[in-house]
Amino acid sequence: MRPTEADNMPEKGDQSYLRSRNTARILETLRQNKAFSRIDLAEQTNLDKKTVLNIVNDLFAQGMIRIMSRQIDGAGRPKEILGINGDYGRYAGIDLGGTHLSGVIVNFAGERIASNDVEVHNGLEPDTLMKLCIYLMRNLLKEAGLKEYDLSGIGISFPGFVASSQGYVTSENFPRWQNIPIQEMFQKRYNLPVCVDDCSRLMALAELWFGKGRNCRDFIVADLGFGIGCGIVIDRKIFRGSAGKSGEVGHTVVDVNGPPCTCGSHGCIESFAAGWALSRDAQSIMQKHSNTLLCETSGNSPEGVNFRQVVLAANLGDLYCADLLKKAGEYIGIGLSNAISFFNPSRLIIGGRLIQDNEIMIRAITETIQIKCMKQILDDVEITVSELGGSASAWGAGVSCILNAENLFITAMQKLKEKVK
Ligand SMILES: [Zn+2]
Repeated sequence: MRPTEADNMPEKGDQSYLRSRNTARILETLRQNKAFSRIDLAEQTNLDKKTVLNIVNDLFAQGMIRIMSRQIDGAGRPKEILGINGDYGRYAGIDLGGTHLSGVIVNFAGERIASNDVEVHNGLEPDTLMKLCIYLMRNLLKEAGLKEYDLSGIGISFPGFVASSQGYVTSENFPRWQNIPIQEMFQKRYNLPVCVDDCSRLMALAELWFGKGRNCRDFIVADLGFGIGCGIVIDRKIFRGSAGKSGEVGHTVVDVNGPPCTCGSHGCIESFAAGWALSRDAQSIMQKHSNTLLCETSGNSPEGVNFRQVVLAANLGDLYCADLLKKAGEYIGIGLSNAISFFNPSRLIIGGRLIQDNEIMIRAITETIQIKCMKQILDDVEITVSELGGSASAWGAGVSCILNAENLFITAMQKLKEKVK
């Protein structure tokens, strides 16, 4: 089974759909297991040998798979061990964050071959943002030893709403990021296919392929950073919602009289615990207490303080910051226990930049979930922390390009076979 983000896949129930699903299943099995013979592939995917042979032949012809080795097993012909051909394509994934730009280059096997980060200030002007992305891309290509023409696609991870048909993006957290034609901007500059999606969903996609979601059917990924979102995976597919706006757990209200939120409401989880809310509270700490460690770690500049400096100060022993992170973790824990009750996942994966080196917050989140979540539901949930690091959404953006390439191939094959009929 595999995640299919198949925008242009055929309808369920017909032969085209079956073939698409089987092709995707074979690619996924090879990607997860690295190498398989044709017979092992048939066994592993529960498909008949003829179907596997036909699909494998098509994948060979396209160059998507290759022979990794030959096994001599007694007399007879050596067994060919197949694997994904990483060289089939290379894709850039770029995560546009509130306080960072993070980029990776992955090959068709999904392996990261370059990774780079740039720190930024909150919500840059779109033109400046594009300039920085071009700079980041240059660094990535240099690290990977590639040229622009070696790339086959670009994936963009965005912290907000994506009108996927036109590739326009809007973020409630950054006033300057409204209706930006991000897809067109990248297509114009690089002349490549560009996929754009929400950062939390792409983080979930990375977990599904390479992280703690690999062996799990139904799970939730908490994306904790400048904003707070959630990626939902049901039956190994990303759940998008009716209009592609699923997972806004950060805008669920935990206190009707709470602080104003960027969405226009009051007392959302984000308004207490998102990176932007921690910056606001950190400013207030610095104004009240001028001799704190936070003042030192942030260079006595309340206007520029961000959540990474709060985490650093807390780790150095600043009790105000430690208390801030603990309380924020408790609010996040309430939101995530609600999400667990809604979806009954078998795993909750806690990820995002806010929890990097942030044991205080992770402990507060997990302890709150243990207290708030109904025991009968909690018993079935494993709570775990992501191991993919700060570039998980960028990695997911790269993966979305691989899926796009697979879907284009599957659709093209189908059209060809219909013509031959
Ligand atoms: Zn809100």
